Amino acid sequence: MKATVEEYLDLSVVDITKKEQVELRYNEAIEAELVQVARNGYPYEIAGFLLGKKSEDADLVSEVYPVENVAKEQERKFEIHGLDYLKVEAYALENKLDVIGIYHSHPDYPAIPSKHDLEFAQSVFAYAIVSVDGNGDTLINSWKKSNKKFIQQSILIRS
Ligand SMILES: [Zn+2]
Repeated sequence: MKATVEEYLDLSVVDITKKEQVELRYNEAIEAELVQVARNGYPYEIAGFLLGKKSEDADLVSEVYPVENVAKEQERKFEIHGLDYLKVEAYALENKLDVIGIYHSHPDYPAIPSKHDLEFAQSVFAYAIVSVDGNGDTLINSWKKSNKKFIQQSILIRS
């Protein structure tokens, strides 16, 4: 990537002065799955849901639920069909899981949210972004919307 992360960082989208208190936690198998789907989807954005258990101090992901990206420009955007929201809610209810958030990939783009991401984000969800380049190198950051901007959420990889 030619540009630095700072050049992509839009301060109208991201508030770098704050940090989300609730940590996102998952194990190495979940991490490997997120990396793999992002690599497989390259150069298009992929998307899906993160399922697990929410608690006061942590969003604990136990399952990855991939869905189709129905955006028109899939190199730069993702959209999830309304039906998939209903399906995942039903699946979560049936399996006594919480819908923790949404993951999507950023092909050849840093793991920081875009204006488009902010526009469609809901504050109840965590947004994990998997940056992936042509070599398959990846980096994951997670974000939550608060007061109309994204703030970063720490990720803890459990053993
Ligand atoms: Zn995005």
